Amino acid sequence: MYQAFLIKYAEIGLKGNNRSYFEDCLVKQIRYSLRLVGDSYQVRKEPGRIFIECPEGYDYDDTVEAISRVFGVAEYCPVEICKSTEWDDILAACKSYVERNVADRNTTFKVFCKRGDKNYPKESPEICADVGEYLLQSFPELKVDVINPKLRFTVEVRGRVYIYTDSYPGPGGMPVGCNGKAMLLLSGGIDSPVAGYMISKRGVYIDATYFHAPPYTSERALQKVIDLARIISKYTGPIHLNVVNFTEIQMYIYDTCPHDELTILMRRYMMRIAETIAKEHDCLALVTGESIGQVASQTMHSLVCTNAVCELPVYRPLIAFDKEDIVAISKKIGTYETSILPYEDCCTIYVAKHPVTKPIVKAMEKSEKLLADQIDEMTERALSTRQVIRIMPE
Ligand code: ATP
Ligand code: MG
Repeated sequence: MYQAFLIKYAEIGLKGNNRSYFEDCLVKQIRYSLRLVGDSYQVRKEPGRIFIECPEGYDYDDTVEAISRVFGVAEYCPVEICKSTEWDDILAACKSYVERNVADRNTTFKVFCKRGDKNYPKESPEICADVGEYLLQSFPELKVDVINPKLRFTVEVRGRVYIYTDSYPGPGGMPVGCNGKAMLLLSGGIDSPVAGYMISKRGVYIDATYFHAPPYTSERALQKVIDLARIISKYTGPIHLNVVNFTEIQMYIYDTCPHDELTILMRRYMMRIAETIAKEHDCLALVTGESIGQVASQTMHSLVCTNAVCELPVYRPLIAFDKEDIVAISKKIGTYETSILPYEDCCTIYVAKHPVTKPIVKAMEKSEKLLADQIDEMTERALSTRQVIRIMPE
């Protein structure tokens, strides 16, 4: 049984003077993720690496799952720790590592050594040669292959000595929290949860806003959005989900404005309201799941009209993604099955048969003038009656 995990990071290693800030963010996120599994893990920073020491009797699969959800983890390696740094103990630990973890010894290997402790009496090439020779003596089936070894037998000598052979890919990206906060417009569809996941992967905390239109959209549709937020919160951390009642505004637009402009006008009001909430929550951007040309409201022309009402930058991580690529990510992160549940969305209820595909901002502004009487009051009401649900990862 491995006693620890070695965490390798990629991009953070390229940082200059503020590298330790990013490392601290990563340590914090690893601790947070492991808290859901157990409370006696020790997470420690060493130059260029992070080590997780596991409590006695820990659950391997749960631990790996928790590590695999932390952005910033480029690779993780299950490791065994030697009982001391004495040479004889190291050799004994190497032998028992192979006995315990290498079932098929009819294979090739090469020994790698990282010597973090520069005062250790043996140098790396000597450690590699001596461990290699000892393993060959102990396991005559093993063969050395220095070019293309199947087993990369690695010994890291630091304050303690760590042994590992396997390395698994983590999710990559940057640790959440190292890069400010954004407001995700979260619907019950496939795209927006993926967009939230992706922006969060760049180290951004997210909060979310969902527009619902009771009684046209049901409690089940709201529950679906809550469920989606909970799934992505496993990666992003806690989310404040703002639930805005959009019925009144939607009906008003429907009754007052040309029907072919309906979706764009609705999207413009969604963006305005989400931006107001975003600013209250200190968010530095809005995030949507839009992708060029996916539907009429996402043509280049439509996106200009939606963008025109925002002061904050609007990030659209999926802008150049094909639907099938988005679906693949949503399956990978576990949102797909929930996203495809067939509950109504407030946008789909009033869609025009022939929505405009090349709207222009001036025309949208002209139509919005028709709403002057009541729209400010309605927007105020939508904001003041919003419900905030705190979503915690489970
Ligand atoms: P999704 O799969 O994310 O629902 P979609 O393909 O259905 O996207 P649209 O309905 O045009 O696309 O919505 C585009 C984007 O607008 C969504 O990705 C989401 O960010 C936002 N959005 C749409 N409807 C809502 C809603 N009811 N509440 C919050 N945001 C929404
Ligand atoms: Mg949608």
